[in-house]
Amino acid sequence: MELPSQYNAKEVEDKIYQLWEKSGFFNPDNLPTRHKKPFCIIMPPPNSNGSLHIGHALFVTLEDVMTRYQRMQGKKALWLPGADHAGFETQVVYDKKLEKEGRNRFQIPKDQLYQEILEFTLANKKVMERQLKKLGASCDWSREKFTLDENIIKVVYETFEKLKKDELVYKGKRIVNWCVKHQTSLSELELKYEDRTSPLYYIKYPFSDKNGFLIVATTRPETMLGDTAVAVNPKDEKYKGLIGRKIILPLTGREIEIISDDAIDKEFGTGAVKVTPAHDMVDFEIGQKHKLETIQIISNRGKIINSPEKYNGLNVEEARKKIVEDLQAEGLLEKVDSDYKNRVSLCYKCARVIEPMPLDNQWFVRMTAKPKSGKLSLRDSAVKAVKDKKIVFVPKRMEKIFLHWMKNLRDWNISRQITWGIPIPGDENGQVFDTWFSSGQWPFATLKSTKKGDFEKFYPTDVMETGWDILFFWVARMTMLGIYATGEVPFKNVYLHGLVRDKDKQKMSKSKGNVIDPLGVMDIYGTDALRMALVVGNTPGNDLAISEEKIKGYRNFATKIWNASRFVMMQTGNSKFEIRNPKQTLNSKDKKLIKDFKKIAKEVTKEMDEFKFYVASEKIYHYFWHTFCDKIIEDYKEKRVSQYVLLTLLSESLKLLHPFMPFVTEEIYQQLPIKKKQKCLMVESWPK
Ligand SMILES: [Zn+2]
Repeated sequence: MELPSQYNAKEVEDKIYQLWEKSGFFNPDNLPTRHKKPFCIIMPPPNSNGSLHIGHALFVTLEDVMTRYQRMQGKKALWLPGADHAGFETQVVYDKKLEKEGRNRFQIPKDQLYQEILEFTLANKKVMERQLKKLGASCDWSREKFTLDENIIKVVYETFEKLKKDELVYKGKRIVNWCVKHQTSLSELELKYEDRTSPLYYIKYPFSDKNGFLIVATTRPETMLGDTAVAVNPKDEKYKGLIGRKIILPLTGREIEIISDDAIDKEFGTGAVKVTPAHDMVDFEIGQKHKLETIQIISNRGKIINSPEKYNGLNVEEARKKIVEDLQAEGLLEKVDSDYKNRVSLCYKCARVIEPMPLDNQWFVRMTAKPKSGKLSLRDSAVKAVKDKKIVFVPKRMEKIFLHWMKNLRDWNISRQITWGIPIPGDENGQVFDTWFSSGQWPFATLKSTKKGDFEKFYPTDVMETGWDILFFWVARMTMLGIYATGEVPFKNVYLHGLVRDKDKQKMSKSKGNVIDPLGVMDIYGTDALRMALVVGNTPGNDLAISEEKIKGYRNFATKIWNASRFVMMQTGNSKFEIRNPKQTLNSKDKKLIKDFKKIAKEVTKEMDEFKFYVASEKIYHYFWHTFCDKIIEDYKEKRVSQYVLLTLLSESLKLLHPFMPFVTEEIYQQLPIKKKQKCLMVESWPK
């Protein structure tokens, strides 16, 4: 048998993927009987609202490497694929589409809008599946789940009911991060922060007895319309005698009190601050503690309300300008510090300044309260599991970050005001669950709704592989909800990858023109080349630099593998070797080469077991190029090495290479003149 003179990735890849699919081995139930011990990775469901980008290519490659390796190790390997409806994310993408068509979601009936977005999402989901296949993903498509599948929603509702019974869910009025443009509250994940220089206004608040002023500093004078107190720190000597005294709130004539609270920073401004419970998170908490009134003065459309007539209806910027003018006119503006540095929260999609705002009928999950039926809060059970090493982080340093973040948990607002999502049962306002509430249940929700027995067999799963940037938002929530709903951790290992950056370590963005489109480069250089470029040198938890040059380098490696295999096959012709049983006697050189290979295989295995794929891939790369091609083939040409050893070492090297470069290795294996125990390299035994 002879290989074509050139490796044509484009032709080979689709054919090989079909071969794998037809073999049925992506489904663990079809694996040969030697595969007994289960191994499971649940795929973080990609958003089905667009095309795959290089970040997707990275996680797909890493998870496929792990799955293929464990499958060859004889595990009953399940990699369960999924797709995410991605609530707000998709809503925003769809909003843009509507905008282009001259439509607006607020004018479309809710049911119709939902149906439209569903169709849009399902169409995108199909595209995404095709792209995952192009990347070589050896996941079990027969078990694919979508976050809006009926049986997934059922599991999500069961958890919600359990939380309610345990009195861990409550409804309340809370301050939420409101985006006026998108008309929804946002989680902390959906905010971005920007350092700005803003004017800091020093305003005189006259005492009720007209005996002087108290001066407060603020960057948002317009919110004074909703002030219900002025606060100072109890340890602040300057204000000791003033606590309890009354003040007349300028421009409104309303009387408010001076209170003291530990939360006040003595160093900010004058040390006396206005308290606006309706429009500031910290002020809301102070208000709750001191039983202050909450007066909402900014509407969810961003207009002034509940204020003196001349301000009502103005937008926030207009109101700020007018109020500063009026204070000046009344001689109540002490001074303006024009270059005060502060940090503002913005909507991560439209970059509008977030308006903290009170919202009624919000659903919350208590993170730090004990459930009625259990001993530990959601937070404490997750912390305990991590401290008990039931969950191991790769890299290790992420454990510390995880535990630190868990210390400062607030109750979780799980309601959203958008259309696209899982409806909250029993909510009169048609709100939906925060996407993270359902995706936080993904590992057990999927395994409970695929095949009977899957949950018992595959849960807890072996690895959760995802980006470190969603450690808190997703991994922490999966840990808490997983333990809460099932009594067991959802995964034993968490592998966190970094961000893919360009060769100068710059973030990839369309505007910089440095984006690498995975589909484009796979087309030119082949999928195996891209996969190697994404794995070699990629240490967990750190950002990865990638360039077209790097990908090209591994295309050359694929060519090298092909040419070496072609040479070996021309030498060995059609003779069918029984690989483990040489008919010829081996000379001492042969024996040494086999021994050397076993040492390499052992080292690679160790690195794989320790999640050091970046080392394992490089080792086998160097072995193949610099030992097998440069030395062993040359020795063979000088008749110092037997045919048997040449073929054996090629076939064994292909196995080590397979998890990283599945297509080229499988294609060669299919043509290899050896007696094969298996139909595919994919299910061959890992070299020992
Ligand atoms: Zn927005």
